[in-house]
Amino acid sequence: MDNKVTFAKIRNQTPKYMEIAEGKVVSIDYNLKDDEGTVIDQSKPDQPLVYLHGHKNIISGLESALAGKKAGDTVDARIAPEEGYGPLNAELEQVVPKDRFQGVEDLQVGMQFQANTNQGPISVRVVKVEGDQVTVDGNHPLAGKHLNFSVKVTDVRDADEEELSHGHVHGKGGVEH
Ligand code: ZN
Repeated sequence: MDNKVTFAKIRNQTPKYMEIAEGKVVSIDYNLKDDEGTVIDQSKPDQPLVYLHGHKNIISGLESALAGKKAGDTVDARIAPEEGYGPLNAELEQVVPKDRFQGVEDLQVGMQFQANTNQGPISVRVVKVEGDQVTVDGNHPLAGKHLNFSVKVTDVRDADEEELSHGHVHGKGGVEH
C-alpha cells in the first residue's frame, strides 16, 4: 500500500474482539439439556437468541457464564436452579377437585390454566388426573432443574441509547415496537 491511501470508518462494524459486558447486545446459538441429556430447548438455525447483557433478559447463571466472551467463542455451562428458574416450591403443587375446571372437556396432563389465587393469577400445568382429583403445578417447568447449556456466541455489539433505556434489544431478534 502506498502512503497516500486514506481510510474511512465503516459504520456499525462490530470489532471481533468486543467482549460481552453490561450494555452489549449479544447473539447466541444455544442448546439446552437437562441432566438426563434430553434437549429441552434450542435456537433454530440462523435464528440466534439476541439479548441485552446485564438487564435480566436471560437467567443470571447464563449471563455469568457468558461475561467476557467474544464472538466465535463457545461456552458449556451447567447452571444450578438457584441461578436458573429457581428451586421447586412444593406449595405451588396442589390437588383440586375436577369440578373446578368447569367447561373443560377431556382434561389432560400438560394442559395449562390460569389459576386465580389470593396472591393473584398464576400459570399452572396439569401434572396428574386421577378420578375426580386433578394435580396442578404452578412451578416454572424448569424450576429445580440443573440446566446444561452449550452456547456459541455469534455476535456482540454495543446497545444504542434507546435499547439501554428500554432494557431490551430492538430490531432483528429483538422487540419490535
Ligand atoms: Zn423497546
